[in-house]
Amino acid sequence: MSRVFNFSAGPAMLPEAVIKKASEEMLDWRGEGMSVMEMSHRGKAFMSIASKAEADLRTLMAIPDNYKVLFLQGGASQQFGAIPLNLLGNKKTADYVNTGMWSKKAIAEAKRYCDVNVVASSEDTGFTTIPDFSDWTLNPDAAYVHYTPNETIGGVEFDYIPDTGDVPLIADISSTILSRPLDVSKFGMIYAGAQKNVGPAGLTLVIIREDLIGYAADITPAMLNYKIHADADSMYNTPPTYSWYIAGMVFEWLLDNGGLEAMGKINKAKSDKLYAAIDDSGFYANPVQKRYRSWMNVPFTLKDAAMDADFLAQAAKKGLATLKGHRSVGGMRASIYNAMPEAGVNTLVEFMDEFAKANG
Ligand SMILES: *Cc1c(COP(=O)(O)O)cnc(C)c1O
Repeated sequence: MSRVFNFSAGPAMLPEAVIKKASEEMLDWRGEGMSVMEMSHRGKAFMSIASKAEADLRTLMAIPDNYKVLFLQGGASQQFGAIPLNLLGNKKTADYVNTGMWSKKAIAEAKRYCDVNVVASSEDTGFTTIPDFSDWTLNPDAAYVHYTPNETIGGVEFDYIPDTGDVPLIADISSTILSRPLDVSKFGMIYAGAQKNVGPAGLTLVIIREDLIGYAADITPAMLNYKIHADADSMYNTPPTYSWYIAGMVFEWLLDNGGLEAMGKINKAKSDKLYAAIDDSGFYANPVQKRYRSWMNVPFTLKDAAMDADFLAQAAKKGLATLKGHRSVGGMRASIYNAMPEAGVNTLVEFMDEFAKANG
């Protein structure tokens, strides 16, 4: 058996050290005589796992005390509906920024509950840039402003945090969470599905300022109500215990490896190297305006799409897996989250160079 460099956009690679430790603890977690999977979520053992994971996440992200951290299910997609249900309050409108496929999905779901004001869009560029903040048409009466800091499919990423004044800023950070430091205090709420950069699928993180909790519409299902989950410390019902446990080990791994400051430096270096290989090749191309290129998801096309299948087949032989691009963009996409080692990017860049020389 040998492990490949897995460039999947999600579920994605996890740190090998974490998977090894999980396998060692699989049958018997620290003398409990059972796997974490088999434990009651209300028992002492799991409660210790859960609270340590939250404490480590708070340390890693420097989450201020007036924010709740919720460990939920349903993916980021479920939050697309939960956000308007919980945060509209007495208001009828919300502001949304449209920078790609995930923005659009959030907008479509919000439209079921409120008037959506699209304050800025990069759709006319084919989502290859980020709208200048000076051009946004914000509504001071909006319940909140929602945006997607990193568009996982287009590979386009904000290099700034918008200042929306008193209107709470909400961000879908599914594919950029933990990739570098983030000033949580600038946001009303941030959320992420775990399967990109946190842990296994099935867990969704919601980090929300306490004063925004408690205004859910009457029709909000209990399972989508932030107050119910916050009051129950995310144990209103059975939480995704095993995913929570693995996420906790990922947080520990990050703390042991220098935290988000160190991660940010590595991620910047990895993406710089890959973009340089694309730009210098005359064979590969990435359409995104340089300033807004994603550090996490790097789409690229070959000189001739007819070579795509051959590229993928040869890459697979080198242990470079899951490079096929999203069907809406075509070409390739290399997702290089925290757990992708620098050696994986180096191997990819070497292979790309060889392939271009042989086929250019
Ligand atoms: C993957 C992704 C989603 C969807 O996540 P699910 O957990 O599958 O619902 C939403 N937003 C962004 C930015 C993503 O990358």
